[in-house]
Amino acid sequence: CGIVGYIGEEDVKEILLKGLEKLEYRGYDSAGISVRNGEELKIFKEAGRIKDLREKVDPDFQAATGIGHTRWATHGEPSVTNAHPHQSADGRFTLVHNGVIENYEQIKQEYLPETEFVSSTDTEIIVELISALAKEGRTTEEAFKAALDILHGSYALGLLDKDEEDVIYVAKNKSPLLLGKGEGFNVITSDAMAMLHLTDEFVELMDGELVLLKRDGITIKDRDGNTIERESYIAEIDE
Ligand code: GLU
Repeated sequence: CGIVGYIGEEDVKEILLKGLEKLEYRGYDSAGISVRNGEELKIFKEAGRIKDLREKVDPDFQAATGIGHTRWATHGEPSVTNAHPHQSADGRFTLVHNGVIENYEQIKQEYLPETEFVSSTDTEIIVELISALAKEGRTTEEAFKAALDILHGSYALGLLDKDEEDVIYVAKNKSPLLLGKGEGFNVITSDAMAMLHLTDEFVELMDGELVLLKRDGITIKDRDGNTIERESYIAEIDE
């Protein structure tokens, strides 16, 4: 349903929770955030309101990179287990996803026959697929790209890798997702409204592109790996 992400210097937990609260009006059944501080990554999820999620978040965990999600269940009942972010079994990758993966059963059989899934979502297959492709010797960017080539359906995705420098990997297909620019930080959001308290400068993202979002810059690439230059625009929305 809704996605937010932030990479910068401020306390990311509060930024994500506030962003998710702004998305509440769209409806959701559960929510969660994944926050990263160097090698340490924590996930907090709740089936209920954002204010209940807020209670679960460890206030002492300092982090400045993270992704958050409000879920409107399409595959699997509303529950804490099925809430996003989803994590690969090896603990390395976490992912938020809006949309529906049409060929998830086929991906399971073809690429992940041995994998034990903990949720009943179509989303968990994406994060396990990325993990499996990375284990074959690909960089995260290569594994992410290879996974996108396999996925059919609608998606907006934000991916964190515990083992890499601070970067959020981003892509979309037929689901909305925007990139937002700030001084010393950058964001992603499925709805400009959710990030207007931080920035009103956005960059459009097109289907099929792949993004590396870092604190000091946004790199957009096409599927052949060519870098795409795109002007930002100022969103004129009353909060
Ligand atoms: N299909 C995914 C799920 O059921 C994502 C749903 C959404 O867009 O919130 O978890």
